[in-house]
Amino acid sequence: MEKDRKYPILRNLCYLIRATKQGCAKLLVFCPLIILVNCLVPVITSFLPKVIIDEISGGSPLGRLLAVTGCLAFALAGAAALQKYLDRLIYWNKFKMNAFFLRLITRKGLTTDYRNQEDEHFRTLQDESFASCNGNFSHYARTYDALVRFLSDLMGFLAFGAILVTLNPLLILFLALTTAAGFFLDCRISLWLEKNTDEKAGYERRMRYVVQAADDTRAAKDIRLYSMAAWLNGIYEENLKKLLGWYRRYTAKLFGAAAAGSAIALIRETVAYAYLLHLALEGKISAADFVLYFNVVAGFSAWLGSLLGQITDLERLNHAINRFRSYLEYPESYLREKGKPIESASAPKKLEMRHVSFRYGEDGPDVIHDLSLTLEPGEHLAVVGLNGAGKTTLVKLVCGLTEASEGAVLYDGTDIREYDRDGWYRLFGAVFQDHSILPVTIAEIVAEEEEGSIDRERAEKCLRQAGLWEKISSLPEGMRTRYGKAFWDDGIDLSGGEIQKLLLARALYRQSPIVVLDEPTAALDPVSENRLYETYDEIMQGKTTVFISHRLASTRFCRRIVLIENGRILEEGAHEELLARKGRYYELFETQAKYYREAPGEGAVLP
Ligand code: ADP
Repeated sequence: MEKDRKYPILRNLCYLIRATKQGCAKLLVFCPLIILVNCLVPVITSFLPKVIIDEISGGSPLGRLLAVTGCLAFALAGAAALQKYLDRLIYWNKFKMNAFFLRLITRKGLTTDYRNQEDEHFRTLQDESFASCNGNFSHYARTYDALVRFLSDLMGFLAFGAILVTLNPLLILFLALTTAAGFFLDCRISLWLEKNTDEKAGYERRMRYVVQAADDTRAAKDIRLYSMAAWLNGIYEENLKKLLGWYRRYTAKLFGAAAAGSAIALIRETVAYAYLLHLALEGKISAADFVLYFNVVAGFSAWLGSLLGQITDLERLNHAINRFRSYLEYPESYLREKGKPIESASAPKKLEMRHVSFRYGEDGPDVIHDLSLTLEPGEHLAVVGLNGAGKTTLVKLVCGLTEASEGAVLYDGTDIREYDRDGWYRLFGAVFQDHSILPVTIAEIVAEEEEGSIDRERAEKCLRQAGLWEKISSLPEGMRTRYGKAFWDDGIDLSGGEIQKLLLARALYRQSPIVVLDEPTAALDPVSENRLYETYDEIMQGKTTVFISHRLASTRFCRRIVLIENGRILEEGAHEELLARKGRYYELFETQAKYYREAPGEGAVLP
């Protein structure tokens, strides 16, 4: 499925209008109001001198002159005040819209298919989308502003065009052509910038690296011992020189374009004003009309120049909105409520991996290759292998976090892709090496529910089974103690081993039929890991359990051990059988055991 959205501007504008309707409908009222006022202020300003001159030259009495001038000045002041007031309201409401989009981005990040979170492209879009919603200069806010300015410019252009057309349509053509010429000069600068920005960013990045290295205490030792200061200095100097060269070229281009633009503007205004002067001297227009057209000529070019600028801005922003929508609409393939329902409290069923291959990215190498494995209901299985063998990937496939590139994972004979994925996740009590614990009460962590709905007896039983009850019951608040000293003044922190026990209690509370333990004990020493795994083995009786470890001694207790290497099952059997086979398992076990035997002061030694 296409991952990058390429909607045309109009479609994206409609999308933003729909989102505004949902997030802050008031902005849709403010938008036409401010456009009207933006256009009204210059129109009144242009007409004001003409009206006054007309009144004076028409011999109007002073009272009428004052009344007319007062009315126009009052209208102008009112419009300007309304403009400021609307600006303030819009400014604030754009923040609300940013928050609206931020909520959409967060929800997408929290609920997207897990495999998207591992997709580099998705993560780039996610980072960009979060960054784009920051402050009031988000893509949304900038598009809103550009659209308001575009429509204001369009109205002003039409209004001033209508005034000029009564004078001479050719004058409009002349003004339009010269303004467009100036605009294209500006475009050349933008194009040059677009082409050369990467070059500048490269110089800046390398200079920044040197500046950061100078401030990095970890790098300080190497810099001194390996005399890297001169080398780093050289890099800085060289890049600074190149950067200055870049700016020299840029300012030359900028100056050239500005000079040419000014020359065009000068010709435009000289010709236009000379023409107006000629008409006035010939008596074809009154002095009042001369003043009006004088203002309108300048205004017309300004409206048109700005209008063309907004089109370019909107085009640029459209690209950013497309990136943003690519993130929000990133394809999701897991079935949720439309999937087959699954009972999480049921007894475990047969779990089977059938000829499963998996690769990260479409053309990456096979991380799991044609792997078949069956877990009978309630069976305890150990999966061992060196780091990088594919153990965690295998767990992610079994848990349905990611999906097989080929083959299938079946549960109770059904491809797990057919199940409601959220229901499928509830089948698992998992403890991973990289866990996350929220700063809530101990009971809430264990039960993953709010205080009011927790089965406290069950939570206590799980904490007892996990071996953490003694510690928790000794705290003045017991299970109501809040976790996280950094978050709560009266919160507690737990040691690495205690955290593992807490996570185990959480996995137990779930009463799920399948438990996966993916090296949650890796931070412990091998002996403690072995002891903890044996405890888990006892507690998990009746549940299908997968123990993962890269330390072969930790899972010796399992009746069935699978050794994987390069994503394939190399050997399979009980510990003693595998040792007796004197194959790869034996070799790895001996190497690891030798290491432990040789390590002095490590306490107990394996095997
Ligand atoms: P183990 O758990 O046995 O240490 P993993 O399953 O984590 O092994 O990794 C198996 C292989 O897949 C390794 O070569 C690793 O570099 C690669 N790998 C793991 N995660 C990713 C990822 N998100 N993107 C690309 N490659 C990955």
